[in-house]
Amino acid sequence: MSDGNEKTVAPETPGRYDRQTALSVIGAEGQRRINAATALVVGCGALGSTQAAWLARAGVGRLLLVDRDIVELHNLHRQMLYNEEDARASLPKVVAAANRLRTVNSGVCVEPTVDFVTAENVISFVRQADVVLDATDNPATRYLVNDACVREDKPWMYGGVMGTRGVTMAIRPRQGPCLRCVFDDPASVMSEPCSTYGVLSTIVGWVAALQVTAALKLLIGETPAITRLHQMDIWSGQGSSAVARRNPQCFCCGQNRYEFLDAAQHGGSEDKGVEK
Ligand SMILES: [Zn+2]
Repeated sequence: MSDGNEKTVAPETPGRYDRQTALSVIGAEGQRRINAATALVVGCGALGSTQAAWLARAGVGRLLLVDRDIVELHNLHRQMLYNEEDARASLPKVVAAANRLRTVNSGVCVEPTVDFVTAENVISFVRQADVVLDATDNPATRYLVNDACVREDKPWMYGGVMGTRGVTMAIRPRQGPCLRCVFDDPASVMSEPCSTYGVLSTIVGWVAALQVTAALKLLIGETPAITRLHQMDIWSGQGSSAVARRNPQCFCCGQNRYEFLDAAQHGGSEDKGVEK
């Protein structure tokens, strides 16, 4: 399924995915498609490491991980792939993640990149992927990913966490709303750093679970008729799931204007952080 030069298909491992292929919604053909797919995880903090762990265990054949940060002790309460040794060694998160994922599923090709995702490089990553998972922590990178995925016609799974709250939506460009159809103002999307507000690890799991499930559904060819914006406060247990619709006047997918992507031609994007 990948557009990339390399295509890695996880090798046949008898029995490995039995409990997954037994699911009527996946089956042997669904598993074959998952094994043949490439997923891009943008950011390798709490959301990204959780997504990557589930994607690798599910057998997604090739995982592209991009993040510039190193593992620190204060990451460990929520960033499930890392341990104290990684923090002591100040390993780049994507390197620590790749080391761990290869021990989880040696049939998966994990390709770590220690870098920010920028207007200059995002297209090269997105073009290699069948699906993109958002694990960033700032609006500029999310809107950059939105621009790139709409322009390249790639599905991407928006997700964000702050405190005890989370939000997520599966975006299929021009078949449903893009991020900008729903949140026209970048400042309206969750952006406060978790260093300020903190984050509860369990909301990370909730958001990542919906993102990875939506990604697997798309990879096996299931296309939902509607798009839903899911929100949850996991502390109170109160959530909502609202139908999201395209905005025909959307600056991005309606007018085909990619201002975050075009920043590369005007000095580059300023905000380069990813999920901390
Ligand atoms: Zn749009």
